[in-house]
Amino acid sequence: PKTVSPDFKKLAKDLRSGQRAALARAITLIESRRADHQAAARELVQALLPDTGKAVRVGITGSPGVGKSTTIDALGMFLIERGHKVAVLAVDPSSARTGGSILGDKTRMARLANSEAAFVRPSPSSGTLGGVAAKTREAMLLCEAAGFDVVLVETVGIGQSETAVCDMTDFFLALMLPGAGDELQGIKKGLVELADMIAINKADGDNIKRANLAAAEYRGALHILSPRSEHWHPPVVTYSALTGTGMDTLWQKILDHCTAMNASGEFAARRREQQVKWMWSMLEQRMMARLRSDATIRAKVKKTEAEVADGRITPAVAAEQIAEMLR
Ligand code: GDP
Repeated sequence: PKTVSPDFKKLAKDLRSGQRAALARAITLIESRRADHQAAARELVQALLPDTGKAVRVGITGSPGVGKSTTIDALGMFLIERGHKVAVLAVDPSSARTGGSILGDKTRMARLANSEAAFVRPSPSSGTLGGVAAKTREAMLLCEAAGFDVVLVETVGIGQSETAVCDMTDFFLALMLPGAGDELQGIKKGLVELADMIAINKADGDNIKRANLAAAEYRGALHILSPRSEHWHPPVVTYSALTGTGMDTLWQKILDHCTAMNASGEFAARRREQQVKWMWSMLEQRMMARLRSDATIRAKVKKTEAEVADGRITPAVAAEQIAEMLR
């Protein structure tokens, strides 16, 4: 690796010692679009790599209103009371359009946001889902280097962002409501296939009976689907983020999964696969970014594109020509 500036060394040192301000600054570096910042960020994450990988990485998804922020606040406090350090990140591709992410918003997680043992960061807003997800993943590594041993990554229940979060976490938790209809919706979206656990929130007061019914339906649905791993059959649990009932079971299942995956070797395999997948994803983004940003290349691509449209050259020949331009 190249020699690093003293400033950089200090940032890495402060981050490693768990200073949240340093962590926040480092994530800002990751999120920056400036080429020199991006180069520095790459170097920083590489330098901190030996300190990463030790957290339990949990992805949390669910439709708006299901109780994601209430759950993260409650689960986070539950963990902090047991001596954990909890980081909350988010992947919200819509934030790129709207300019701000509601996910990972500190005001939604009042108790966590005020806790010394927590770090809450909203979703980066950097264009494509791929871009947002890549930055969140790097932020996760930095959180680990800063000593956070549980990382919760929040996302809304919409297609591709769930896959992206699933691809950066060890455990994917799908939150559902006791109400009818929601059940089938989850299955339709293929979410149930991704989930390592389905947790039905708001199992309190008048909702308890409906929550149990919903749980039975999900168990039935999971039963007919083949599980992702032969060593883990996704459980269906009910809980209440409001009262805290079932929070201990929720966490225990995550630990059980961790134990089972470690025993079967799947834990390490999943992380290895994810790492390689991220390399290809980032490479793809870089290549596409170059195609779009280099004016000369852009003009040539446009011309090639027109030739393909007119039927003068084949898509295969065009792809070859474009690939040559990237050399
Ligand atoms: P998000 O949009 O998924 O983040 O959902 P929120 O955490 O903001 O919760 C949406 C609404 O559901 C809020 O009014 C919460 O107070 C309420 N809520 C969340 N968890 C529970 C719960 O366990 N029981 C009940 N009764 N309400 C809850």
